[in-house]
Amino acid sequence: MYERDLLTSLQHLYNEDELLDIRLAIKYATKKHNGQKRKSGEPYITHPLAVANLLADWGMDSDTILAGILHDTVEDTDATLEEIEAQFGRDVAFLIDGVTKVSQARAGMRDLSSYLPQTKDNLSKLLIAVGQDVRVIIIKLADRTHNMQTLQHMKPDKQQKISRETLEVFAPMADRLGMGKVRMQLEEMAFRYLDTNEYTRLQKLMRQRLGRSTRKLGAVRVEVERALTAQRISFEINGRVKSIYSLHKKLVKVENNIDDIYDLMALRVIVATKDDCYRVLGVLHSLYQPMLARIKDYIAAPKPNGYQSLHTTVITPSKQIVEFQIRTQEMHEYAERGLAASFHYHEQKSSKSYTAKKPRAKTALPAHLQWITELQEIAARLQNGDEISTDQLAIDLFGSRIFVYSPKGDIYNLPEGALPLDFAYLVHSDLAKHAYSFKVNGNIHAFDKPLENGNMVEIVTRKMPQVKPTWVNLVRTTHSKEKLRAQLKKRGLFT
Ligand code: MN
Repeated sequence: MYERDLLTSLQHLYNEDELLDIRLAIKYATKKHNGQKRKSGEPYITHPLAVANLLADWGMDSDTILAGILHDTVEDTDATLEEIEAQFGRDVAFLIDGVTKVSQARAGMRDLSSYLPQTKDNLSKLLIAVGQDVRVIIIKLADRTHNMQTLQHMKPDKQQKISRETLEVFAPMADRLGMGKVRMQLEEMAFRYLDTNEYTRLQKLMRQRLGRSTRKLGAVRVEVERALTAQRISFEINGRVKSIYSLHKKLVKVENNIDDIYDLMALRVIVATKDDCYRVLGVLHSLYQPMLARIKDYIAAPKPNGYQSLHTTVITPSKQIVEFQIRTQEMHEYAERGLAASFHYHEQKSSKSYTAKKPRAKTALPAHLQWITELQEIAARLQNGDEISTDQLAIDLFGSRIFVYSPKGDIYNLPEGALPLDFAYLVHSDLAKHAYSFKVNGNIHAFDKPLENGNMVEIVTRKMPQVKPTWVNLVRTTHSKEKLRAQLKKRGLFT
């Protein structure tokens, strides 16, 4: 990517002032990286420009673009943060500092669960950087995406190492942020290097299968279009092909029998409203026989990363099996871009709500992003010099997440293995204090029994505070431990 190409693609996305800063940043970075080369032999500056282009593609705000252009200057040239802050402002300097720290802290980590730096000092740096501004991770993802796109220039052992890290750390991170498209691209590129033979085999297999079914699918599509039009539902319909890596994962599960995979190609229906999604589902089920076990309502119960859609698999009269995915435009946007979509749609105003500069209520972030708030709380504690074990951190931040519901239907996001009191403390610590017992899906639930995804949790309270020292063993999250400790202290029960 060269300066002229980048400016052309950014022209209509940012205003005059922003473009002026972008030009300045390009000039600055070009000068600093002067003489440095990528492994491909191209001038080094082509890399940060490509990273900035990806970030613009993902709809990021102009500060993130500037940070993308400058992201390697502090680590690899004589540029200093002070200089950058003076020229491009505090926010940009802050982002670059975060990106630099993440790459320094990353050394020696293997997978997401061990994505924790070796030393306490690096750990706190990493957390403070990421916890204060999630855009740091998004810049790292763009950086990694371009490095994967140019991986052919590296030596084979490096290719393997970088691909493994991409598959085990960066793709799950993109998934955690709901950035489905980026996750998929990273997985495809990495898998291709890690198991080239299998990748090629599956690619061929997929082509054969799709060739056979595409024409038949066309007929189904026409029929569905006709039925939806008759119901006066406005819609868009298109086909989506399964990615090679997700086919590979699925094949492992079904003992390599490709006939057991029904969603090699799916039809995706995009409509205006949530109500329309259910209407489309009704139309499909009146046209075709649904496979009952395969109806999934991810609208009422979103996936832990926030993904929403209705999925159904039907059997046509000619015995063809077709998967449908039904969603609104907004859900579609989120499924592809995830957290990045919020920076795009609400512009810089709301991008502030993803940074920790101003204190705000926990509810400011949607349920599936509450982990960012937790990260910020932990960062603040580390800054205060508090002791936090790395085990604790791994549970809180990088483990799997579950969704549970309040009786009113509010959604709460907790780490897997969370106990009922963790839910109570997440709802409100005053409420937790009065917890006498718990009901899950209407049944009494023990304090020491972990919650599961989709549970509806009711807190039964008593007027008298119930909080007691033994509760220390009945909470798992850092958040609850902290709140509980404060309550015990206040009541003189802390030992
Ligand atoms: Mn880079």
